[in-house]
Amino acid sequence: MGFVPQGKTVKREKMDIYDELGVSPIINAAGTYTVLGGSRMSEETLEAMNSAARNFVSLRDFQKAAHQAIAKLTKNEAAYVSNGAAAGLYLAIAACIERKLGKPFYYLTKDQIASCTILMFKAHRNPYDLVIGHLGAAYRELSFPNRIFPPTEADLEYSIDEHTAAIYFASSAWVAPGFLPLDVLVKKAKAKEVPVIVDAAAQLPPVENLWRFSEQGAAITLFSGGKDLRGPQASGLMVGCQELIDRVTAIGFPHYGIGRMLKVGREELAGLYAAIKQYVSMDHHARYAWCEAQIVALQEALDGKGIFTVRRSFPNEAGQPIARAFLEITNPRYTPEYVQDFLLQGKPPIYAYSENLQGIFINPMSLKAGETEIIIKRLQALR
Ligand SMILES: *Cc1c(COP(=O)(O)O)cnc(C)c1O
Repeated sequence: MGFVPQGKTVKREKMDIYDELGVSPIINAAGTYTVLGGSRMSEETLEAMNSAARNFVSLRDFQKAAHQAIAKLTKNEAAYVSNGAAAGLYLAIAACIERKLGKPFYYLTKDQIASCTILMFKAHRNPYDLVIGHLGAAYRELSFPNRIFPPTEADLEYSIDEHTAAIYFASSAWVAPGFLPLDVLVKKAKAKEVPVIVDAAAQLPPVENLWRFSEQGAAITLFSGGKDLRGPQASGLMVGCQELIDRVTAIGFPHYGIGRMLKVGREELAGLYAAIKQYVSMDHHARYAWCEAQIVALQEALDGKGIFTVRRSFPNEAGQPIARAFLEITNPRYTPEYVQDFLLQGKPPIYAYSENLQGIFINPMSLKAGETEIIIKRLQALR
C-alpha cells in the first residue's frame, strides 16, 4: 500500500483479527472475567471509539467534558475515567495521601508516602489491593477475617490515627466475615475526616450501585469499565466527591509523575462515556428476564435427561442479581473437569466454571443471542 493521506479511508474487507492471528474466539458462559476479555462492547460504543480516534482533540478539554457528563449520568458530584479499576485504586489512594500530607503528590518523597497508612479490614485484603503497597503507603489491618471475635466500632475508633490517609473497603461477594457495614464505617471515618475508598469493580449490576456507595458516604467508588459496564476493557470508572476527584485529575494522565504510566486514550474516554450512557438507560429488567429465559431453555433441554439436574442459582458468584444455571452432574461417568474440558475442546471453545462443585455453571450474563443453543447442542453431544 502506498502513501495514504490521513483521513482518507481505504476500503477493505471486514477483518477478523483472531482469524488472522490464528487464535480462536470463545463463547463465554462464565461471566465478566477479565482473562476472557471482560465483556463485549456494543456497536454504538465501538462507533464512539472510532469517531474519537478519527480526529485530534485537546485531551484535557475532552476529559473535562466527558467527566462532567459521566458524573451527571451516574448522579455523582464528580467522575474520572482511569485505565481500569486497579489503576483507579492507585490514583484514589495517591489522592488521599496528597490530601493527608498537604502537598502535590508529584513533590512527595518515598519516606513521606511511607508515613501514611491505609486502614482496611483484614477480611478485605485481596490481590487487587497490592497496588497500595506499590504506591509506598503502609497497610494497617483491622479485625480478624473470621467469626471468633466480630469487629466492633471500638476497633475502628482506636485504629484510626494521625497517620491514616484513607480507609479501603472491598465490596464483593467473596469477602470473608470480619468487617463492619459500609454505613457504620463511613460514619466513624467522617467524624475523623478520613476518606473511604470503595472498590466495587464488579458490583454492577444493579445499576443503582453507580450512585449508591456515594450516597452512603464513600469519597471515591471504583468500577471496572470492562466488566458489566461494557466499556473498553482497559478502562475504569471513578466516581465521588469533587475535592478528591480534582486531586485525581491533577495526578492522573496526561500529567507527569505516576499519572503518565496510567494512560487513558481519547478512544477509552469516548468508549466508556458511550457505554455508561447506554447502561443507565438500559432496560435492566428485560435483561434479567432474558437471562432467566436462557436458564429455562437449559432446563428444558438438559434437566433429567441422564447427565444433569439443572437448577437456577441466584445471585451469581460476584453477588450480582443475575441468575445462572447450575448443571449438577448426576451421572457418575462424568466429572466437572471432564465436562469443562469437553466444552473447551470443541469449536468454538466454550468457557464454563465449576467453582469446585459437582457440576458446572452456565452464566448467561455475557452470552449473546444464539449461544445458549450452541451450548445446549454441545452438551447434548457429551460422550
Ligand atoms: C476486577 C476487579 C478489579 C480490577 O479491575 P480492572 O478494571 O480490571 O483493573 C479490582 N477489584 C475487584 C474487586 C475486581 O473484581
